[in-house]
Amino acid sequence: MRHLTTTTDLTDAEIEAIYDEASGYLGDQTNQKLRGKLVINIFFENSTRTRSSFEVASRRLGAEVVSLDVASSSESKGETLFDTAANLDAMGASAIVVRHKNAGVPKILSKYVKASIINGGDGAHAHPTQALLDLFTLRQALGDVRGKKIAIVGDIKNSRVANSNIALLTRFGMEVIMVAPPHFLPRRAAIRSAWNLRDALDEVSAIMSLRTQTERHEQPIYASLSDYAANFKITRELLGDRDIFVLHPGPVHRNVDLDDAVLSDPRSLVLNQVHNGVAVRMAILSKFVLEN
Ligand code: ASP
Repeated sequence: MRHLTTTTDLTDAEIEAIYDEASGYLGDQTNQKLRGKLVINIFFENSTRTRSSFEVASRRLGAEVVSLDVASSSESKGETLFDTAANLDAMGASAIVVRHKNAGVPKILSKYVKASIINGGDGAHAHPTQALLDLFTLRQALGDVRGKKIAIVGDIKNSRVANSNIALLTRFGMEVIMVAPPHFLPRRAAIRSAWNLRDALDEVSAIMSLRTQTERHEQPIYASLSDYAANFKITRELLGDRDIFVLHPGPVHRNVDLDDAVLSDPRSLVLNQVHNGVAVRMAILSKFVLEN
């Protein structure tokens, strides 16, 4: 049984095969590869993009898809997570996409079910499909990414997107520079860090901005996000005329993470990420469902 809990569950060759297949879905193609299969999305934490991206991807492959509204699901009636998953499994799901605020939940669930568990984001730990679509998007923009540098800017310590991207992008030969105030920097001895984006601006080919994960802070760190924005907002003025692509996993705190001008600049890949996300998730779902 194969599960996708972190990007390390896939070999380089498998990732290349996923990208080859995803490239064939960029024109919003549909097929019936997963006809008769059931994909269940169970999101215990809010999501707009990831959940709808998996829904669209499942439908484009001809699968049936059910998305559980967790507020009205059994967890609120006291059923354990494992019983919920076992019940979904008994309905004949081929894949269960799980998001949970606690790190490790997808991994634990994978031991209790016959379906493939796909991690849709667990706590601050991992968000493998986001990193896979981000690398795909970076390659589309930059070509060969090996040896190129990317600055990841913001609340890195609390970000599963940063965690998964640091693992995947460095594995595929990119150099990551973490740019954040000290309280947002994780201790990662092997990764270079800076407190000021200007220190890295002339070296990088891309910047990945992150949302401040206020829901994971034990106590408020900034009195207001505009204090953070004063130092870490990516503005068009900051980019100047440099060839730097800008990514963000969403949801964007507009004019805190990125300013309006950057969001509408041709160097912004934010909507490309969303578009590519469906294609990459189609390839991931078809792999995990059909090989199960
Ligand atoms: N959507 C991403 C996630 O689920 C990023 C974020 O929420 O800031 O982690």
